[in-house]
Amino acid sequence: MRRPLLLTGLVLAPVALVLALAGFVSDDAWVERIGYRMGTSLGIRLNAPTREAGLEAIEAAFERVARLEGVLSTWRDDTDLARLNRIPVGHAVRLAPELRGILTEALGWSGRTEGAFDPRVGALVDAWDLRGEGRVPELRGLERAVKASGPDAFQLDGDRAIRLREGAWIDAGSFGKGAALRDAHRALVELGVTDALLDFGGQILAMGAGGAGADGWTVPVAHPSRRDETAATLRLRDRSAATSGSSERFVTVDGVRYGHLLDPRSGRPVEAWGSVTVIASDPFVADVLSTALFVVG
Ligand code: ADP
Ligand code: MG
Repeated sequence: MRRPLLLTGLVLAPVALVLALAGFVSDDAWVERIGYRMGTSLGIRLNAPTREAGLEAIEAAFERVARLEGVLSTWRDDTDLARLNRIPVGHAVRLAPELRGILTEALGWSGRTEGAFDPRVGALVDAWDLRGEGRVPELRGLERAVKASGPDAFQLDGDRAIRLREGAWIDAGSFGKGAALRDAHRALVELGVTDALLDFGGQILAMGAGGAGADGWTVPVAHPSRRDETAATLRLRDRSAATSGSSERFVTVDGVRYGHLLDPRSGRPVEAWGSVTVIASDPFVADVLSTALFVVG
Protein backbone atom coordinates (compact mmCIF):
# COMPACT_ATOMS: atom_id res chain seq x y z
CA MET A 1 0.00 0.00 0.00
CA ARG A 2 3.00 2.30 0.23
CA ARG A 3 3.67 2.38 -3.48
CA PRO A 4 0.31 3.80 -4.58
CA LEU A 5 0.66 6.50 -1.93
CA LEU A 6 4.09 7.40 -3.22
CA LEU A 7 2.74 7.36 -6.76
CA THR A 8 -0.15 9.58 -5.82
CA GLY A 9 2.32 11.95 -4.19
CA LEU A 10 4.50 12.04 -7.29
CA VAL A 11 1.50 12.78 -9.46
CA LEU A 12 -0.08 15.33 -7.16
CA ALA A 13 3.06 17.36 -6.42
CA PRO A 14 3.46 18.74 -9.97
CA VAL A 15 -0.30 19.27 -10.20
CA ALA A 16 -0.14 21.30 -7.01
CA LEU A 17 2.82 23.23 -8.37
CA VAL A 18 0.99 24.02 -11.62
CA LEU A 19 -2.11 25.07 -9.69
CA ALA A 20 0.00 27.30 -7.45
CA LEU A 21 1.67 28.90 -10.48
CA ALA A 22 -1.66 29.41 -12.22
CA GLY A 23 -2.98 30.93 -9.03
CA PHE A 24 0.00 33.22 -8.83
CA VAL A 25 -0.28 34.31 -12.45
CA SER A 26 -4.00 35.02 -12.31
CA ASP A 27 -3.88 36.57 -8.89
CA ASP A 28 -4.90 39.83 -10.55
CA ALA A 29 -7.63 42.08 -9.33
CA TRP A 30 -10.35 44.33 -10.70
CA VAL A 31 -10.46 47.50 -8.69
CA GLU A 32 -12.99 50.32 -8.96
CA ARG A 33 -13.49 53.77 -7.55
CA ILE A 34 -15.95 56.59 -8.21
CA GLY A 35 -15.20 60.13 -7.12
CA TYR A 36 -16.17 63.69 -7.90
CA ARG A 37 -13.83 65.86 -10.00
CA MET A 38 -14.27 68.94 -12.23
CA GLY A 39 -17.88 69.21 -11.14
CA THR A 40 -18.85 65.73 -12.29
CA SER A 41 -18.33 62.08 -11.46
CA LEU A 42 -15.17 60.22 -12.38
CA GLY A 43 -15.32 56.44 -12.31
CA ILE A 44 -12.26 54.27 -12.87
CA ARG A 45 -12.30 50.49 -13.11
CA LEU A 46 -9.08 48.69 -13.87
CA ASN A 47 -7.20 45.45 -13.77
CA ALA A 48 -3.89 45.19 -11.92
CA PRO A 49 -1.55 42.43 -10.75
CA THR A 50 -2.70 42.95 -7.16
CA ARG A 51 -5.45 44.85 -5.41
CA GLU A 52 -2.87 47.16 -3.83
CA ALA A 53 -1.29 47.97 -7.20
CA GLY A 54 -4.76 48.65 -8.61
CA LEU A 55 -5.71 51.02 -5.81
CA GLU A 56 -2.40 52.81 -6.18
CA ALA A 57 -2.94 53.28 -9.93
CA ILE A 58 -6.46 54.62 -9.39
CA GLU A 59 -5.15 57.02 -6.78
CA ALA A 60 -2.48 58.27 -9.18
CA ALA A 61 -5.05 58.85 -11.94
CA PHE A 62 -7.37 60.75 -9.59
CA GLU A 63 -4.44 62.87 -8.43
CA ARG A 64 -3.52 63.75 -12.00
CA VAL A 65 -7.09 64.90 -12.69
CA ALA A 66 -7.19 66.97 -9.50
CA ARG A 67 -3.90 68.57 -10.45
CA LEU A 68 -5.20 69.60 -13.88
CA GLU A 69 -8.39 70.89 -12.29
CA GLY A 70 -6.07 73.19 -10.33
CA VAL A 71 -4.81 74.59 -13.66
CA LEU A 72 -8.02 74.79 -15.70
CA SER A 73 -10.99 75.34 -13.42
CA THR A 74 -12.99 78.53 -13.88
CA TRP A 75 -15.19 77.70 -10.90
CA ARG A 76 -12.49 78.76 -8.44
CA ASP A 77 -10.19 81.78 -8.58
CA ASP A 78 -6.83 80.18 -7.70
CA THR A 79 -6.14 78.35 -10.99
CA ASP A 80 -3.84 79.46 -13.82
CA LEU A 81 -6.79 79.87 -16.18
CA ALA A 82 -8.85 81.84 -13.66
CA ARG A 83 -5.89 84.19 -13.18
CA LEU A 84 -5.52 84.62 -16.94
CA ASN A 85 -9.24 85.42 -17.16
CA ARG A 86 -8.73 88.32 -14.73
CA ILE A 87 -5.92 90.17 -16.49
CA PRO A 88 -6.75 93.75 -17.54
CA VAL A 89 -7.75 94.43 -21.14
CA GLY A 90 -4.74 95.11 -23.35
CA HIS A 91 -2.30 93.40 -21.00
CA ALA A 92 -0.16 90.47 -22.03
CA VAL A 93 0.96 87.86 -19.52
CA ARG A 94 3.36 84.97 -19.81
CA LEU A 95 1.64 81.61 -19.52
CA ALA A 96 2.94 78.62 -17.61
CA PRO A 97 4.04 75.96 -20.15
CA GLU A 98 1.20 73.55 -19.38
CA LEU A 99 -1.63 76.08 -19.77
CA ARG A 100 0.06 77.50 -22.84
CA GLY A 101 0.22 74.05 -24.45
CA ILE A 102 -3.40 73.23 -23.71
CA LEU A 103 -4.72 76.62 -24.86
CA THR A 104 -2.64 76.52 -28.03
CA GLU A 105 -4.15 73.14 -28.82
CA ALA A 106 -7.71 74.17 -27.94
CA LEU A 107 -7.59 77.47 -29.84
CA GLY A 108 -6.06 75.65 -32.80
CA TRP A 109 -9.31 73.72 -33.02
CA SER A 110 -11.19 76.98 -33.13
CA GLY A 111 -9.47 77.82 -36.42
CA ARG A 112 -9.97 74.30 -37.79
CA THR A 113 -13.69 74.33 -37.03
CA GLU A 114 -14.09 77.86 -38.42
CA GLY A 115 -15.11 79.12 -35.03
CA ALA A 116 -17.82 76.54 -34.26
CA PHE A 117 -15.62 75.43 -31.40
CA ASP A 118 -14.12 78.22 -29.35
CA PRO A 119 -13.47 78.15 -25.60
CA ARG A 120 -13.40 81.97 -25.64
CA VAL A 121 -17.16 81.98 -25.08
CA GLY A 122 -17.18 83.27 -21.49
CA ALA A 123 -18.89 86.56 -22.39
CA LEU A 124 -21.71 84.60 -24.04
CA VAL A 125 -22.02 82.21 -21.10
CA ASP A 126 -22.53 85.34 -18.97
CA ALA A 127 -24.90 87.04 -21.45
CA TRP A 128 -27.23 84.03 -21.35
CA ASP A 129 -26.50 83.49 -17.63
CA LEU A 130 -25.87 79.82 -18.36
CA ARG A 131 -24.18 79.33 -15.00
CA GLY A 132 -27.12 80.87 -13.19
CA GLU A 133 -30.87 80.99 -13.72
CA GLY A 134 -30.63 81.79 -17.42
CA ARG A 135 -31.70 84.94 -19.28
CA VAL A 136 -32.32 86.00 -22.85
CA PRO A 137 -29.99 88.93 -23.55
CA GLU A 138 -31.16 92.10 -25.28
CA LEU A 139 -29.88 92.56 -28.81
CA ARG A 140 -27.27 95.16 -27.82
CA GLY A 141 -25.98 92.99 -24.99
CA LEU A 142 -25.84 89.98 -27.30
CA GLU A 143 -23.86 91.92 -29.91
CA ARG A 144 -21.43 93.07 -27.25
CA ALA A 145 -20.98 89.50 -25.99
CA VAL A 146 -20.37 88.16 -29.52
CA LYS A 147 -17.65 90.80 -29.96
CA ALA A 148 -16.13 89.78 -26.62
CA SER A 149 -16.01 86.13 -27.74
CA GLY A 150 -13.82 84.19 -30.14
CA PRO A 151 -10.55 85.47 -31.62
CA ASP A 152 -11.39 89.09 -30.72
CA ALA A 153 -11.57 88.20 -27.03
CA PHE A 154 -8.19 86.67 -26.27
CA GLN A 155 -5.14 85.93 -28.33
CA LEU A 156 -2.04 83.83 -27.83
CA ASP A 157 1.25 85.28 -28.96
CA GLY A 158 4.14 82.91 -28.40
CA ASP A 159 4.23 82.15 -24.68
CA ARG A 160 2.03 85.15 -23.92
CA ALA A 161 -1.69 85.71 -23.86
CA ILE A 162 -3.47 89.01 -24.36
CA ARG A 163 -6.96 89.88 -23.29
CA LEU A 164 -8.57 92.15 -25.85
CA ARG A 165 -12.10 92.79 -24.55
CA GLU A 166 -13.83 93.66 -21.35
CA GLY A 167 -16.01 90.78 -20.16
CA ALA A 168 -14.09 88.18 -22.16
CA TRP A 169 -13.02 84.92 -20.53
CA ILE A 170 -11.99 81.44 -21.53
CA ASP A 171 -14.09 78.46 -20.45
CA ALA A 172 -12.40 75.06 -20.23
CA GLY A 173 -15.77 73.27 -20.04
CA SER A 174 -15.59 71.93 -23.56
CA PHE A 175 -12.14 70.30 -23.34
CA GLY A 176 -11.20 70.03 -19.65
CA LYS A 177 -12.52 66.51 -19.18
CA GLY A 178 -10.78 65.33 -22.34
CA ALA A 179 -7.51 66.90 -21.24
CA ALA A 180 -7.89 65.31 -17.80
CA LEU A 181 -8.60 61.88 -19.27
CA ARG A 182 -5.43 62.20 -21.30
CA ASP A 183 -3.44 62.92 -18.12
CA ALA A 184 -5.14 60.07 -16.25
CA HIS A 185 -4.32 57.75 -19.14
CA ARG A 186 -0.64 58.73 -18.94
CA ALA A 187 -0.58 58.05 -15.21
CA LEU A 188 -2.09 54.60 -15.72
CA VAL A 189 0.29 53.71 -18.55
CA GLU A 190 3.25 54.76 -16.39
CA LEU A 191 2.08 52.32 -13.73
CA GLY A 192 1.72 49.48 -16.22
CA VAL A 193 -2.07 49.40 -16.41
CA THR A 194 -3.30 47.96 -19.71
CA ASP A 195 -6.97 47.24 -19.03
CA ALA A 196 -9.18 50.01 -17.68
CA LEU A 197 -12.44 51.84 -18.21
CA LEU A 198 -12.74 55.47 -17.21
CA ASP A 199 -16.07 57.29 -17.25
CA PHE A 200 -15.72 61.01 -16.70
CA GLY A 201 -19.16 62.57 -16.65
CA GLY A 202 -20.15 60.45 -19.63
CA GLN A 203 -16.91 60.71 -21.59
CA ILE A 204 -15.38 57.25 -21.81
CA LEU A 205 -11.78 56.16 -22.05
CA ALA A 206 -11.37 52.46 -22.75
CA MET A 207 -7.90 50.98 -22.30
CA GLY A 208 -7.27 47.45 -23.52
CA ALA A 209 -9.96 44.99 -24.46
CA GLY A 210 -11.91 44.75 -21.20
CA GLY A 211 -10.39 41.62 -19.71
CA ALA A 212 -9.11 38.28 -20.90
CA GLY A 213 -10.97 36.98 -23.95
CA ALA A 214 -12.91 40.20 -24.50
CA ASP A 215 -12.63 42.07 -27.79
CA GLY A 216 -13.39 45.51 -26.43
CA TRP A 217 -15.27 47.33 -23.71
CA THR A 218 -19.03 47.51 -24.23
CA VAL A 219 -20.16 51.09 -23.83
CA PRO A 220 -23.77 52.28 -24.16
CA VAL A 221 -24.64 55.66 -25.67
CA ALA A 222 -27.70 57.19 -24.08
CA HIS A 223 -30.60 58.49 -26.16
CA PRO A 224 -30.20 62.28 -26.48
CA SER A 225 -33.45 63.12 -24.72
CA ARG A 226 -34.64 59.89 -23.05
CA ARG A 227 -31.47 59.48 -21.07
CA ASP A 228 -32.34 56.11 -19.53
CA GLU A 229 -32.68 54.52 -22.98
CA THR A 230 -29.68 53.19 -24.89
CA ALA A 231 -29.52 54.55 -28.44
CA ALA A 232 -26.39 52.71 -29.51
CA THR A 233 -23.81 50.30 -28.15
CA LEU A 234 -20.13 50.79 -28.85
CA ARG A 235 -17.30 48.35 -28.53
CA LEU A 236 -14.18 50.27 -27.66
CA ARG A 237 -10.56 49.27 -27.44
CA ASP A 238 -7.94 51.93 -26.69
CA ARG A 239 -10.34 54.67 -27.65
CA SER A 240 -12.22 57.52 -26.05
CA ALA A 241 -15.85 58.38 -26.76
CA ALA A 242 -17.26 61.82 -26.00
CA THR A 243 -20.89 62.81 -26.43
CA SER A 244 -22.27 66.34 -26.71
CA GLY A 245 -25.87 67.40 -26.75
CA SER A 246 -27.89 70.10 -25.13
CA SER A 247 -30.82 68.24 -23.66
CA GLU A 248 -29.07 67.41 -20.39
CA ARG A 249 -27.64 70.75 -19.37
CA PHE A 250 -29.79 73.81 -20.05
CA VAL A 251 -31.52 76.79 -18.49
CA THR A 252 -35.23 77.54 -18.86
CA VAL A 253 -36.48 81.09 -19.50
CA ASP A 254 -40.23 81.70 -19.87
CA GLY A 255 -40.75 78.03 -20.56
CA VAL A 256 -38.12 77.90 -23.32
CA ARG A 257 -35.04 75.73 -22.88
CA TYR A 258 -31.61 77.06 -23.80
CA GLY A 259 -28.79 74.52 -23.92
CA HIS A 260 -25.29 75.10 -22.57
CA LEU A 261 -23.62 74.79 -26.00
CA LEU A 262 -23.35 78.05 -27.90
CA ASP A 263 -22.61 78.93 -31.47
CA PRO A 264 -19.90 81.55 -30.91
CA ARG A 265 -20.59 83.08 -34.33
CA SER A 266 -24.27 83.85 -33.77
CA GLY A 267 -23.93 84.04 -30.00
CA ARG A 268 -26.99 81.82 -29.60
CA PRO A 269 -27.43 78.51 -27.77
CA VAL A 270 -27.60 75.59 -30.19
CA GLU A 271 -31.05 74.06 -30.50
CA ALA A 272 -31.47 70.61 -28.91
CA TRP A 273 -31.48 68.56 -32.11
CA GLY A 274 -29.90 65.32 -30.82
CA SER A 275 -26.37 64.44 -29.84
CA VAL A 276 -22.98 63.73 -31.35
CA THR A 277 -20.62 61.00 -30.18
CA VAL A 278 -17.03 61.18 -31.34
CA ILE A 279 -14.65 58.24 -30.97
CA ALA A 280 -10.94 59.05 -31.09
CA SER A 281 -7.73 57.66 -29.69
CA ASP A 282 -7.02 61.04 -28.05
CA PRO A 283 -9.67 61.94 -25.43
CA PHE A 284 -8.92 65.65 -25.88
CA VAL A 285 -9.79 65.43 -29.57
CA ALA A 286 -12.96 63.43 -28.85
CA ASP A 287 -14.08 66.07 -26.34
CA VAL A 288 -13.35 69.02 -28.64
CA LEU A 289 -14.91 67.48 -31.73
CA SER A 290 -18.11 66.31 -30.06
CA THR A 291 -18.74 69.92 -29.00
CA ALA A 292 -17.70 71.30 -32.40
CA LEU A 293 -19.80 68.88 -34.44
CA PHE A 294 -22.84 69.43 -32.25
CA VAL A 295 -22.56 73.18 -32.92
CA VAL A 296 -22.08 72.60 -36.65
CA GLY A 297 -25.28 70.51 -36.66
P1 ADP B 1 -20.29 68.57 -21.47
O1 ADP B 1 -19.66 69.34 -20.35
O2 ADP B 1 -21.75 68.39 -21.33
O3 ADP B 1 -19.55 67.33 -21.82
P2 ADP B 1 -19.03 69.94 -23.65
O4 ADP B 1 -17.79 69.14 -23.55
O5 ADP B 1 -19.63 69.99 -25.01
O6 ADP B 1 -20.20 69.50 -22.73
O7 ADP B 1 -18.67 71.44 -23.13
C1 ADP B 1 -19.65 72.35 -22.74
C2 ADP B 1 -19.09 73.64 -22.19
O8 ADP B 1 -18.23 74.29 -23.12
C3 ADP B 1 -20.18 74.63 -21.92
O9 ADP B 1 -20.64 74.48 -20.61
C4 ADP B 1 -19.56 75.98 -22.18
O10 ADP B 1 -18.94 76.43 -21.02
C5 ADP B 1 -18.50 75.70 -23.19
N1 ADP B 1 -18.96 75.97 -24.56
C6 ADP B 1 -20.21 76.25 -25.00
N2 ADP B 1 -20.24 76.41 -26.33
C7 ADP B 1 -18.96 76.21 -26.76
C8 ADP B 1 -18.34 76.22 -28.04
N3 ADP B 1 -19.03 76.46 -29.15
N4 ADP B 1 -17.01 75.98 -28.10
C9 ADP B 1 -16.30 75.73 -26.98
N5 ADP B 1 -16.82 75.71 -25.75
C10 ADP B 1 -18.14 75.94 -25.64
MG1 MG C 1 -16.63 68.69 -25.23
